[in-house]
Amino acid sequence: MLDVTAVRKDFPILSREVNGHPLAYLDTASSAQKPGAVIDAVTRAYTEEYANVHRGLHTLSAIATERYESVRGVIARFIGASSEEEIVFTGGATEGINLVAHSWAAPRLRLGDEIILSTMEHHANIVPWHFLRERQGAVLKWVPCDAEGWLDPQAVMDAVTPRTRLIAVTHMSNVVGTLTDVAAICRGARERGVPVLVDGAQGAVHAPVDVEEIGCDFYALTGHKLYGPSASGALYIRADRAREMRPWKGGGDMIRDVTLEEVSYAAPPLRFEAGTPAIVPQIGFGAALGYLMDIGMEAIRAHETRLRDHAADRLGRLEGLRIIGGLRGRGPLFAFTLERGPAPAALALALDAAGIAVRSGSFCSRPVNRQFGIEASCRASFGLYTATSEIDRLAEVIAESCEDFRQGRTAIAGGLM
Ligand code: PLP
Repeated sequence: MLDVTAVRKDFPILSREVNGHPLAYLDTASSAQKPGAVIDAVTRAYTEEYANVHRGLHTLSAIATERYESVRGVIARFIGASSEEEIVFTGGATEGINLVAHSWAAPRLRLGDEIILSTMEHHANIVPWHFLRERQGAVLKWVPCDAEGWLDPQAVMDAVTPRTRLIAVTHMSNVVGTLTDVAAICRGARERGVPVLVDGAQGAVHAPVDVEEIGCDFYALTGHKLYGPSASGALYIRADRAREMRPWKGGGDMIRDVTLEEVSYAAPPLRFEAGTPAIVPQIGFGAALGYLMDIGMEAIRAHETRLRDHAADRLGRLEGLRIIGGLRGRGPLFAFTLERGPAPAALALALDAAGIAVRSGSFCSRPVNRQFGIEASCRASFGLYTATSEIDRLAEVIAESCEDFRQGRTAIAGGLM
């Protein structure tokens, strides 16, 4: 069982105060805090081991290259990929999905070809496909999630036609917190010869992932949500797909040869990595995944399931609080609105005044907000360092803010507005 008191000591930022209160960081789905293991790895890389990678024969370049390249193996182990050649370094899930759009989809699409998406995708898994709609006449086919935010794999299969070129779905919704049965989707898709891209930006954070068991062709990860540095991340590309794909960015490192007349390309994964990469962020990402694997993703899942149940109970008891998609199942995040209470942004400010960090807005997912009839909500999201006492504080301050609102008082930053 995960010892949350011990885990919290690994995260230096959690001991600080915000607005005179102990910080309760409930915005982990947006970006997670970093453990000492990551901070130390980044500091060591810059203070003792920094140089450019892949380029030099000197000692520091060799050490930096070894540290950086070894992260591929860590990522492969974390997601159950059979070879580190299937791991392309990216700046995050957004970049990974754009890579698939440019390198896999764009060269294969003919006017009227279809891409299947769910309505609960993050803009990172919507806008790159709109580009292909605008530029190449691709047809985007939307499969709606149900009233509780669940995506039915059969509904995805029913949308497949002979024109379908790709299915791109989120592993876990960043708004309603539901998990997609991506293995069922991949099974059906494979029978129909359609590749599947899974957006794992949220899903990989909360439970063990095995891309071979899932059976996907592409799986996008983002490092900063996995307790690593921002600008780190990876895209899993199944080996046979990677070999069929053309590069998308041109520059140093991704070539086999360049002459004045022509260019030939390196084999994957370097083929997809042009220019000096995010060397130190990726080293930090490797440290983050090592830290998570030491704790164990099953232990993290069990802890976060308890947090979710606790929050469902505490938030579920608050009068007028509507959880988007309801309480059943889902991961450790809740987006909610208040019927007779402050608007999302005002509530987020009131919570901040009490030292509680949550996010408000539409979380880069406007279509699913519209499907649920809202423009914005507040979202509380938990991670391996979240304590149930922080969820209790959240519920208490929401209740106080609602009371202030009903009495015509709006407390923001300690004052009355
Ligand atoms: N997909 C989902 C489901 C997300 O929640 C996010 C970020 O919030 C992204 C993709 C984009 O991730 P990044 O901005 O790290 O590339």
